[in-house]
Amino acid sequence: SNYYTIRQYPQGTPGIELFERQQQVLPELKDGEVRIRNSWLSVDPYMRGRMSGVKTYVDPFTLNEPLEGAAVGHVIESLDSRFQPGDKVSHMAGWRDVAQLPADAVTPLPDIAVPEQAWLGVLGMPGMTAWTGLNAIANMRDGDNVLVSAASGAVGSLAVQLAKASGGTVVGLAGSQAKRDWLESQGIKAVDYRNKTAEQLTEDLRSACPDGFDIYYENVGGVCLEAALNCLKVGARIAVCGMISRYNDTESVAGPSNLAMILIRRARMQGFIIFDHWDEYPQFVAEIGPRVAAGEISYTETVRHGLDATPRAFLELFEGANQGKMLVQLENG
Ligand code: NDP
Repeated sequence: SNYYTIRQYPQGTPGIELFERQQQVLPELKDGEVRIRNSWLSVDPYMRGRMSGVKTYVDPFTLNEPLEGAAVGHVIESLDSRFQPGDKVSHMAGWRDVAQLPADAVTPLPDIAVPEQAWLGVLGMPGMTAWTGLNAIANMRDGDNVLVSAASGAVGSLAVQLAKASGGTVVGLAGSQAKRDWLESQGIKAVDYRNKTAEQLTEDLRSACPDGFDIYYENVGGVCLEAALNCLKVGARIAVCGMISRYNDTESVAGPSNLAMILIRRARMQGFIIFDHWDEYPQFVAEIGPRVAAGEISYTETVRHGLDATPRAFLELFEGANQGKMLVQLENG
């Protein structure tokens, strides 16, 4: 098996030299274990947190051990009656070409006609996060006006479509013209946040949605949060999903200067971690899976090729190089 490790916990924005490719001969398969050839690997922003060396809601990666992350592949050998060679599965032993795991840690792909990598994006953890954030956390109601940051990414691109389907005005923040073109093609108003002060961005949001927002779906933090706070309606809800603009910070930064808007607008701000909601994943798949298979929900992917592309693909998330879900396709994918 070929896999990636990190040699140390990085400070600030990681460089490519952090990652080391290694190789091991896998031990013979034990009873109850499954061997899988991975075809698609996921890279996700939360992995930066696991590289900080500090336990948050999840343990840090172990130095010099294979990194972990979502992956899909097919079974090549099985000593568990639940799996046969050829079965398509998902699991968390990513960042490698061949995985060997207890069968309990392996999940068969649901029987819905979508490309297998969709289980890493729109129908996987990121999609589940968008659905949970809007419904369970922000209590989205028909006609709500919704603002989403990192709106063309894996989470954001489903969030904007679900929000649009509920009937209000939807505005998405995105960092490139191609991303904003995709948003507009979905009937979503797209706003560029780059190189703007909170005041400038507030003005742009006000002209995109003069009545203000019932919901802010927060993926970014910083200036985006500050501008969003200025544009809330009375009784607004903020679902705090992520704050990617802060993940590589080395020093603490001042919070938004206008947090009093929470008071003035009688708003509620709630963070959430998707793992706490995983019991509802089957309900998400039942509701959203058929709509993806029918083409009613669209999704985009940015694909890098080969195991060696994985570290760079991960770093590119912080440069905004991805549109939709960032994925690595392996040789047999
Ligand atoms: P994306 O596919 O959205 O990729 C990341 C995007 O973030 C980039 O494409 C870029 O888009 C934007 N971005 C990167 N750096 C910055 C920056 N400095 N300032 C502003 N925008 C930036 O990733 P995901 O959809 O997987 O994740 C989106 C967010 O959701 C992240 O914050 C992530 O941590 C969070 N998350 C939280 C979960 C939870 O359980 N709470 C679960 C899953 C994800 P652009 O070019 O538009 O700026």
